[in-house]
Amino acid sequence: MNAVFPGSFDPITSGHMDVLTRAAKIFDRVTVTVMHNARKQGRHLFTLEERMDILRGATTHLPNVRVDTFGGLLVDYMAHQEPGSVILRGLRAVSDYEYELQIAHLNRQIGDAETVFIMAATRWSFVSSSMIREIASYGGDVSEMVPRASAAALRRRHAEAYAEREAEKHEHSETPQREQPGH
Ligand code: ADP
Repeated sequence: MNAVFPGSFDPITSGHMDVLTRAAKIFDRVTVTVMHNARKQGRHLFTLEERMDILRGATTHLPNVRVDTFGGLLVDYMAHQEPGSVILRGLRAVSDYEYELQIAHLNRQIGDAETVFIMAATRWSFVSSSMIREIASYGGDVSEMVPRASAAALRRRHAEAYAEREAEKHEHSETPQREQPGH
């Protein structure tokens, strides 16, 4: 039996990794599918290609895990690209459950797709990609909560943002100030 782990993975965290590692032991093959949505383009910290590269870097030690992408309805992907596979989702806390339950029922209703849930270890229950992005944007250390590939990409992005801000400051300080009349 194969499984598809869909998500945005912006970027992959240790919580995702925990779910994935457990799933790789249960299923014959797991496909991590980065779902992309034209309307959400530009709202991510990492581009689709960057997220897939990070995922590939983080999963090289898991031989039965592969990385893919899809832009459309998950049930269409399941029917055409992964017939017979189940959808894999991770659960952190009860708060995830309500949302996940609704999506799982809808996917069964519209595409006859089954969803399997795996709980990550409790130490990752507070970890989310959005919190990781927030901390890393201020230069905080998130290396304990993400795989190495994500930590390196986050550091790079932070350094780029810093360099951009510095260049902007420099540009403004070089703009000649117009003299005030009467001074
Ligand atoms: P989405 O944008 O579809 O929620 P994410 O990339 O945020 O995608 O997450 C993909 C899946 O991983 C979801 O099922 C989410 O609940 C689960 N997940 C995210 N963070 C964790 C975590 N720390 N522990 C367990 N599962 C998690």
